[in-house]
Amino acid sequence: MIDEILDKKELSSEDLVTLLKLDKKEDLEKLRIRSYRTMADNVGELVYIRGLIEFSNYCTRDCLYCGIRKSNSKVKRYILTKDEILESAMWSAEKGYGSIVLQSGERSDESFVSFVEDIIYEIKEKTKSDLLPNGVGITVCIGELSYQQYQRIFNAGAHRYLLRIETSNPDLFRKIHPENQKIETRIECLEMLHQIGFHIGTGVMIGLPEQTFEDLAADIQFFKKYDCDMIGMGPYIINLDTPMEYWKDYYFENQKNIYSLSLKMIAVTRLYLKDVNIASTTALQAIYPWGREQGLLYGANVIMPSVTPRNYRKDYLLYDGKPCTEEFAGDCLNCVLSRVHSINREVGLNSWGDAKHYIKKKELNSIS
Ligand code: SF4
Repeated sequence: MIDEILDKKELSSEDLVTLLKLDKKEDLEKLRIRSYRTMADNVGELVYIRGLIEFSNYCTRDCLYCGIRKSNSKVKRYILTKDEILESAMWSAEKGYGSIVLQSGERSDESFVSFVEDIIYEIKEKTKSDLLPNGVGITVCIGELSYQQYQRIFNAGAHRYLLRIETSNPDLFRKIHPENQKIETRIECLEMLHQIGFHIGTGVMIGLPEQTFEDLAADIQFFKKYDCDMIGMGPYIINLDTPMEYWKDYYFENQKNIYSLSLKMIAVTRLYLKDVNIASTTALQAIYPWGREQGLLYGANVIMPSVTPRNYRKDYLLYDGKPCTEEFAGDCLNCVLSRVHSINREVGLNSWGDAKHYIKKKELNSIS
């Protein structure tokens, strides 16, 4: 039956659920091989790298699963200076990263947004070179903003925006967020980002308590419905300071399944969406040391090594056991190169590495 499903041109909701439920070794290998081939045929085998700058851990939100949520008083808060951000961005460009991600806790106050806007202008200007005539590609991930604020970020030169929904199931969303955080607002934000012309990224957590296979299948369909270009999904990993006590037992009892389900989500998302960029997230490595390589073997084509200055890394812990908090950016670069080479793939250096899905849309728009 699995071969029949894998041969289909269009996968139904039931097919997605069946694939996510696979647990026999030989079936998983068939899924992995088909997903890898779909990736190679649609986006190629190069792995694109994004230098991740976690530039501030101040957050106005209170997601119950997150280590840096505003009510976690144990967190030492920081915000990098413009010079520190610029230094990390320029280091990334010099090493051939091609793209960076500016990520922080969520804030929409004017002083913060104009700080981000200014730094984008500056990074774009200072990272121009023969190899990158338009500077590094910039992805911003700072949360829910107004239309005008998104437009300013876009005008400053960032062309990608990452806004995770964590789950497309409204009931589940309500269980993992405080009442004032609404999935409807996140969807409105994705629509605004679309209108403005961003390369849009979203993602979900995999293996949440009470999450079903049907929920995950619906998440994959959500990515298609909202025409997303890049997907960043990761296993749900407990933060020990969560107010949700029962989640801790759940997590430790289900860790192995959560890991395997995360790889299946990458594979099934690749089969369903084909030409998008999919990240193999660091969270996979938090559960299994070779998790990021496995993600790449299941159809992911992007990796996001941290270029956050080392002395701030341990204060940006969204979940417990986050790897790479003691390393310098140079260590992460060497580590990523050797990990990618170990699975016989190459890194796409000095390239923005935009998703083919986005490039096709842009070409279509310029024709019409
Ligand atoms: S998940 Fe994001 S928005 Fe939610 S508390 Fe953490 S940093 Fe803030």
